[in-house]
Amino acid sequence: MKTIAGLVFLLILAILGAAYVKTGKVNTSLVQIVPKFGSFPKPTPDVVIPKNCDGKITPNVIDGPYYKESSPERTDFNDPQVPGEALKIKGYVFDTNCNPVAHAWIDFWQANSQGVYDNDKFLLRGHQYTDPNGRYHLETIIPGPYTGRTPHIHAKVQASPQSPLVTTQLYFPGQSRNNEDSIFDPATLIKIEDRADGKWGYFNFVVSVK
Ligand code: FE
Repeated sequence: MKTIAGLVFLLILAILGAAYVKTGKVNTSLVQIVPKFGSFPKPTPDVVIPKNCDGKITPNVIDGPYYKESSPERTDFNDPQVPGEALKIKGYVFDTNCNPVAHAWIDFWQANSQGVYDNDKFLLRGHQYTDPNGRYHLETIIPGPYTGRTPHIHAKVQASPQSPLVTTQLYFPGQSRNNEDSIFDPATLIKIEDRADGKWGYFNFVVSVK
């Protein structure tokens, strides 16, 4: 009995299927489900972080008067209290053999777009650790100049708590004050790229792991 019931069921399915194909409903519905290839939005090209590395330790410079210890851990400095031109910075921390350093500590601090540091709280301040591929990422704004200084972002970088600390400052190309600033160093210029999705910057640090 089970075999006969099964055969009848299959026969009914076959008749229904044939009727469906004959009406063209199957083809129509498939065309509606699969959109034309050209209708997909164009994907944003992937960000490729340049791996440039000369093996020279990133130049050490002074902290300046505005460093604060114990910054919060974060990669995004955006805050309604610090409006400005958005900038995303990506890069690697390398050792002197140009091998990426995972879990390196980086502490960033900078002025707001008016050239003013937040010394009361931790606006535009934060530390982070590189990922397993030695990469970091920071979302921030372009800092303004202040008396005697061209726009810059401060950073402290350390491969591990036992490794030598690098304290440095990152600069922006094309700033008229760069050449009037005695601390400015072209070795720490950020490579800027204007993309459809905003302004991106790239900078790779080199530190000693000893
Ligand atoms: Fe400064």
